[in-house]
Amino acid sequence: MMSTVPFVIVATVTVIVATVSGKESSRHEILRGHQIWQLSNDVGDVPLEVMQKGLLDVLGHFGTSKKVRVPFHCLEEAQRLLQEKGVSREILVEDLATFLEDHERLSKRLTSIGKSFENRDLWMVHVRPNDPSDSEEAGAVWIEAGIHAREWISPAVALHILKELVQDNGSIGNFDVYVVPMANPDGYNYSFTSDRLWRKNRRITSQPGCGGVDLNRNWDFHYGVGASENECSEVYRGSEPFSEPETKALRDAMTKVKDQLKVVMSLHSYGQQLLYPWGYTKHKTAPDTSDLIARGKVFADAAKSVHNTVYKVVNSAGDLYKASGATDDWAKGVLGVKYTYTLELRDEGMSGFNLDPSHIVPCSEEVWEGLKALLYEISKE
Ligand SMILES: [Zn+2]
Repeated sequence: MMSTVPFVIVATVTVIVATVSGKESSRHEILRGHQIWQLSNDVGDVPLEVMQKGLLDVLGHFGTSKKVRVPFHCLEEAQRLLQEKGVSREILVEDLATFLEDHERLSKRLTSIGKSFENRDLWMVHVRPNDPSDSEEAGAVWIEAGIHAREWISPAVALHILKELVQDNGSIGNFDVYVVPMANPDGYNYSFTSDRLWRKNRRITSQPGCGGVDLNRNWDFHYGVGASENECSEVYRGSEPFSEPETKALRDAMTKVKDQLKVVMSLHSYGQQLLYPWGYTKHKTAPDTSDLIARGKVFADAAKSVHNTVYKVVNSAGDLYKASGATDDWAKGVLGVKYTYTLELRDEGMSGFNLDPSHIVPCSEEVWEGLKALLYEISKE
């Protein structure tokens, strides 16, 4: 069961991308209403006869069946003539313009932002709001998942959020949403094939048997304060800030949209805590702390309303442990994003990283409700 999860995720991303749609203006207007039909087997010369009347365009031959394009103004006449000659049809494309528009949009939305150490793609999905003209003012949300390999619930929740977004992106107003569902694909893969509790990426280091960099200690903000120089440590920070291809790619992609970003949320497990900065010190208070706490409580209340799961809103360094070089601190301290959080998902430790798959859907549902409530509050600012 567990070994199928990566394939489930890949398949889900494909489905999500295939269902994203929108209403942007088009260079395919001339094909609006045109349809693609598959004509039944043994059609003989009938399609050619209909084509000679200017009613359709034969696109391809597959054995004895044919694929044809029928212009909008010829649909009824072509259908009538084909029926008269005993040729049945299956509609493959209802509206060719929409089909081509969707294809173009999708190709822009699953973007590889870079490659991992072992050369896997780092995918980012950009979900645009229904009315892109208002999105600049509304801002954007950045969701990062899977940066720690063993925290399998994290990418699963990110994919659920994507599914909800593409089914109804109006539910979060006019926010643009950027989701990186798998920030550490090498480590994630390794946690399936070799070491269930693997956390870091798969960097080869100088010490045999001590590979990997903790990607959530590799960001350049108070680098090294709450991390290790020891390559064998689970919180090894790397040889220098942004030494890793994964963090470099994330940094560059976030920097491109930094002026838009209002919320950055990094999904982790476990502990059921919504952590707000700073992580590098407990002796300094981050800007906007009162707002971070207030909006965090909005998230927690909404999340609790779904399955009664409690998420505590706490400070990273003060209430958890000091950790520098993490995504949320960097996004706040360097990019200046107001609301940056690390969300520790289910559970509180009973199963920990080895969470039963039955938690995936309820955990995703409560996070989605929490996120919607959080964004609604922020949209009123
Ligand atoms: Zn983590």
